[in-house]
Amino acid sequence: MTDNCTDAKFCVSNKNNTTMNITHIEHLGIAVKSLETAIPYYENVLGLKCYNIEEVADQKVKTAFFKVGQTKIELLEPTSPDSTIAKFIENRGEGIHHLAFAVPDTAEALNELAEKEVRLIDKAPRGGAEGLMIGFAHPKSTCSVLTEFCCKPEE
Ligand code: ZN
Repeated sequence: MTDNCTDAKFCVSNKNNTTMNITHIEHLGIAVKSLETAIPYYENVLGLKCYNIEEVADQKVKTAFFKVGQTKIELLEPTSPDSTIAKFIENRGEGIHHLAFAVPDTAEALNELAEKEVRLIDKAPRGGAEGLMIGFAHPKSTCSVLTEFCCKPEE
């Protein structure tokens, strides 16, 4: 077991009994200081179209979305200095902040993670951008990648 990666217990137990049914990478969350500065790169250099800008008040971020196939890029700009995104940028600079997997049911996925002793940031799903139900697992339990699980409410 190391400080940096997933507990060794995951390597020896719980093989082949995963039921969370990840279907695809829903989005990559990328922390930026300014949407105004970042969006032109994604649009004018990469040729992606920003199709939605949305403020998520309880996370103190403004988000901008681009589609890449069925996966999205979610740019996250902090709207307050005490936003977790502001702290992330302060400590580590701009860059990839989290990885989000699409699952059929976020609550079930979180329950399964809890059963497998994965440390959770959200024990129950909460509302995220684009009306998704989301929940985060703690990077201490996920090989240092902040990992989100999300589903559309009707699914
Ligand atoms: Zn996200």
